[in-house]
Amino acid sequence: MTQQLIDSFGREITYLRLSVTDRCDLRCTYCMAENMTFLPRKDLLSLEELATLCESFIKRGIKKIRITGGEPLVRRDLMSFIHKLSKHRISGKLDEITLTTNGTLLSRYAKELKLNGVERINISLDTLDPIVFTKLTRRNALEAVLKGIDTALEAGIKVKINTVALKGVNDTEIPSLIEWAHNKSMDITLIEVMPLGDIDEDRVDQYIPLNAIRDNLEQRFTLNNVPLRTGGPARYAKIKETGGILGMITPLTNNFCASCNRVRVTCTGQIYTCLGHGHKLDLRAAIRGENSDAELERLLGVAMREKPEKHFFDISERGAKPTVARHMSVTGG
Ligand code: SAM
Ligand code: SF4
Repeated sequence: MTQQLIDSFGREITYLRLSVTDRCDLRCTYCMAENMTFLPRKDLLSLEELATLCESFIKRGIKKIRITGGEPLVRRDLMSFIHKLSKHRISGKLDEITLTTNGTLLSRYAKELKLNGVERINISLDTLDPIVFTKLTRRNALEAVLKGIDTALEAGIKVKINTVALKGVNDTEIPSLIEWAHNKSMDITLIEVMPLGDIDEDRVDQYIPLNAIRDNLEQRFTLNNVPLRTGGPARYAKIKETGGILGMITPLTNNFCASCNRVRVTCTGQIYTCLGHGHKLDLRAAIRGENSDAELERLLGVAMREKPEKHFFDISERGAKPTVARHMSVTGG
């Protein structure tokens, strides 16, 4: 008998974040080093295997799947994979299929995503300044991203912008980013940078707490907290002057783990039950072996028992090793 996914703290797991590749066409300085060693291609699960894995999770009560990466749109044939998943949305087993993308390839894929039932996507964009963008992502792609955003909006997809707050890089630009997003009827969520993976910079130089950003925003806007709960870690405020919603995700300054409803699976079939911990279990051997359903059942039971209560991130000591050695691009966001 397949069991619903409930962890040892009574949290019901209904949300799967699936990283379909750890590769990316950008090299954001807070996410990756310029020279990355990616997972060996031979270790990747095929899209068919990923689809089988998704079905196992759907059987166990997963209602929402977010496809992420690396950059998910660089994975070849991703549209056929999403098409396959979309039948579970049509049947009502899944409430939502969504995507987190950097937007560079969206102008090519937005219409097809919409046709396959992707109604909402998150697009990561940290600056509208072409020079800052090129420095921050180490690639010259702002124009492509903006075109991708417009194509997605034209296709009728609801877009949320995710912006990582970075000291001395985009902190002063955040008010104009919010105005730009709200003018296009897009929500925007700010995120504190997290200490995941070795990068070429020191996290101390990047990190700025969101309460400092909020204090600054309140010099210019009226922010009214709204009790919106979207099943995620963000807290929300409505900005009176723009009429739009601002989300704030504070993994460092305000822990939100009590309401965690998610697990993460990588493109090689490793399940991570917490973004802030290195512990993982290998589902790939299970789905490739005999008795795969029983073995998957066993491993997911272990995963639920071992899911940690909370994460502990710290960015205070210059030169410190990251809290988690794995880069964000392995599990995605
Ligand atoms: N490539 C896609 C994108 O950028 O949207 C999806 C994967 S990316 C790893 C997912 C999200 O993680 C992005 O919004 C990115 O800004 C965020 N991110 C990456 N590294 C991070 C870090 N160290 N701390 C906080 N957010 C991070
Ligand atoms: Fe690529 Fe996304 Fe990481 Fe930027 S944040 S390097 S776009 S995976």
